[in-house]
Amino acid sequence: NYSLCLSELNQRIRVCVRKRPLNKKELERGEKDISPTVGISSINVNEPNRSDKYIEQHSFTFDDVFDINDSNSQIYQRTAQPLVNYVFNGGKATCFAYGQTGSGKTYTMLDAQHGLYVLAARDVFSLLCQPEHQHLSAYIGFYEIYQGQLYDLLAARKKLFAREDGKQNVVIVGLKEYVIKNVDDLMKVFEHGNQCRSTGSTGANSDSSRSHAILQILLKPTKNKKSIIGKLSFVDLAGSERGADRGETDVKTRMEGAEINKSLLALKECIRALDQDKRHTPFRQSKLTQVLKDSFVGHSRTCMIATISPNQGNSEHTLNTLRYADRVK
Ligand code: ADP
Ligand code: MG
Repeated sequence: NYSLCLSELNQRIRVCVRKRPLNKKELERGEKDISPTVGISSINVNEPNRSDKYIEQHSFTFDDVFDINDSNSQIYQRTAQPLVNYVFNGGKATCFAYGQTGSGKTYTMLDAQHGLYVLAARDVFSLLCQPEHQHLSAYIGFYEIYQGQLYDLLAARKKLFAREDGKQNVVIVGLKEYVIKNVDDLMKVFEHGNQCRSTGSTGANSDSSRSHAILQILLKPTKNKKSIIGKLSFVDLAGSERGADRGETDVKTRMEGAEINKSLLALKECIRALDQDKRHTPFRQSKLTQVLKDSFVGHSRTCMIATISPNQGNSEHTLNTLRYADRVK
């Protein structure tokens, strides 16, 4: 029973939290849900301290907090849907999922059947049927950032390079874009890219928890593919637990962690700078923020969905995620 308030949904930056239900394994272990009170926009986390003698309570407030019973379509209405309308008015918008591995980022953003990207595409297609949008076509691009390098998921993980076009637009040179006319088209293309994501042909370097995946829906004039009218990006970020300070010993894992940490920090700073209308925004600090630069400047909107696990065993990660999300705004 969320009340829809349009002015609220049209904020330049929205930060929401989504808690997933306890899974089978957690239930079997008898784990408890540590954030029992989820209000419309607040969440309390009961963190058992190490000695288990007392419980620490932490409270946070966000634009929305979604509980275990909220479906993707309910979440869509309050996160990505306002962004769809926005990109039809010539804007650039980005929806991020941030959180530890296993907390529901992919389920929320890029679930093949019910992810927010599909729900958004449905609305895009119906808007494209309206007379005032007849001159537009929708395209999809899908790529991954791993260790600061871009890979095209729709072109067998071909390496890509980003540059700016002088009008503050970021161009990813050679990025494969498919025109999509309906949901079936979209799902086919998506499936193809998604397979590239988890079983990269170039080696074992594509564990989805270590890379950022970016799916973009672009609106372009049918007669001029070079110009972009609107851009809506869905970003399934690398697992936030992959920090440099987690005691990981092997060099590769440590380097991955450092790179991910750097990009997640840069992301936070860019969104904050956007909120405070700062002149200088540190886009160049990471590849992630560099390629999303045009989504932070000018006519842009951002929605962050921080996903959290409910169980006690993950309480530290949950608190880290909530603190990150809290500081974004
Ligand atoms: P992440 O991408 O953050 O690593 P996933 O999206 O893969 O996490 O989710 C981990 C598991 O939990 C998956 O099996 C997924 O289907 C399940 N899951 C995540 N969120 C929900 C939810 N809100 N409701 C039901 N199952 C969920
Ligand atoms: Mg995932």
